[in-house]
Amino acid sequence: MKGTNLVAKARPVIAVGAFSIECNSFAPGSTTLEQIENQDFAVGDDISRNSAGTESEFAGAMDFFSTKEVTLLPTLVAHADAGPPITIAAFRRICAQLLGRLPAQVDGVYLMLHGSAFSREENDPEGALLAAIRERIGVTPPISVSLDLHANFTEKMLKATDIAVAYRTCPHIDLYETGAQAASLLFDAVIGKIKPTLHMKRIPMVTPPEKHDNNFLPYGSLMNLCKQIESEGAYAASLLTVQPWLNVPDLGWKAIVVAEKGEFDGSGAAERIASAAWSNRHEFMKLSGLPLKVALEEAVRHRGLAVFADLGDATNGGSYGDSTELLRQILQSQLASKNILSITDAEVSTKIHSTNKSSMTVDIGSGKNGEYNEKVRCKIEIVAKTNKNLVYSHPAAKGSIGHPGKSALIKVLDQIGDTFVVIHDNPVRVIDPSIYQLFDIDLQDFSVIQAKSHVSFKPGFAPFTEKFVLADTLGPTTANLLTLNFDQRTIPTFPFDGI
Ligand SMILES: [Zn+2]
Repeated sequence: MKGTNLVAKARPVIAVGAFSIECNSFAPGSTTLEQIENQDFAVGDDISRNSAGTESEFAGAMDFFSTKEVTLLPTLVAHADAGPPITIAAFRRICAQLLGRLPAQVDGVYLMLHGSAFSREENDPEGALLAAIRERIGVTPPISVSLDLHANFTEKMLKATDIAVAYRTCPHIDLYETGAQAASLLFDAVIGKIKPTLHMKRIPMVTPPEKHDNNFLPYGSLMNLCKQIESEGAYAASLLTVQPWLNVPDLGWKAIVVAEKGEFDGSGAAERIASAAWSNRHEFMKLSGLPLKVALEEAVRHRGLAVFADLGDATNGGSYGDSTELLRQILQSQLASKNILSITDAEVSTKIHSTNKSSMTVDIGSGKNGEYNEKVRCKIEIVAKTNKNLVYSHPAAKGSIGHPGKSALIKVLDQIGDTFVVIHDNPVRVIDPSIYQLFDIDLQDFSVIQAKSHVSFKPGFAPFTEKFVLADTLGPTTANLLTLNFDQRTIPTFPFDGI
């Protein structure tokens, strides 16, 4: 029976915080503390329910706690867009700030995590952070975390955590509910109403995110299975379909179930989810990305605006946004189309911003021959420059701010079609047209517009066109996982090792 050994606490003290960033270990460069601090970042009393976004997991948890007699101790909120690996200095500083505000005597801890952070010096930042928190507060107070379903949940995280709840939707629309659920379970554990145990089953598979979509049947039915297991009595059941671009041991999908100790077979439930996922693994490899040249031709052939989704350079998967592959293909194809692209290149944007000339020759990209970001020389006309931030229009990111730094709209000269590029200092999410709308352009004038995402771009661009072409391009977020060097993976893992 649930509810045995109730130990009601007068006014429990709960520490709350957030550390949420998805890192791509194949992306060049690093995410620095300054870049994180420029996004959603707050410490101690400066933290509010909105610190990680108005509809975030953190907001959901705070709203839940506001209905209960608890004393909250805000520690640190650090919530950043996906990006290259965080520097070890940034991670250490974040840990120190969070732990510096965490007393040894608390009754519980809630953290909003993404679950897929990575530093080149620390494979498992969240695991290290949770282990340090556990060491500080001792073995008894429950720790509850909310996760993105693309989390790479590790043994170390499992060991330190009592409750873990992940989104059940992709594209993600249940952030708020996920945070509220993690907070509610934590509260029940803190007051002794429940004794939750966390069970995990690794599934030796990694798949590109294109089919991580509730509208796709095996995925939607797997998410429904999690809900069904909750209706059977588990406190929480989640399937983590992991973001695939982490070169770490044990990378793989995970089933995680929170259940009452001795009363619900959480381990069996995790096995059920794992087995259902594994039996569908080949379905997740049936991808629709077209070869670059074919994808471009199809986008150009479409009457009206077409979105070219550059799968290899998905900035919402941690890529740097610096691919030149589409630009080079456009120059080579010499199609009479009007195109607009987005490329991160701080060197070129700085050069443009520091000149009074209206045209110049620049080398866009920094890679070697054959690399996704291969350097390409272009004669350009400078159309407009700005330092403005952008405001996302995507339904799941509406109102949040992107920080491109200095940006410029340039036109590539001496070619048949009209190709415009927005060159900017920092990567931004290209899940909607907001990077392009920094400039005074009419999107409907264009035939091809570049997006940098696998799935999320669809609702973001849907108000402008229904034509989406997915391009199987190279880069840190390529759908073709076999082109990346996963030399740290656990063997065997599907699809690398023929299982
Ligand atoms: Zn995700």
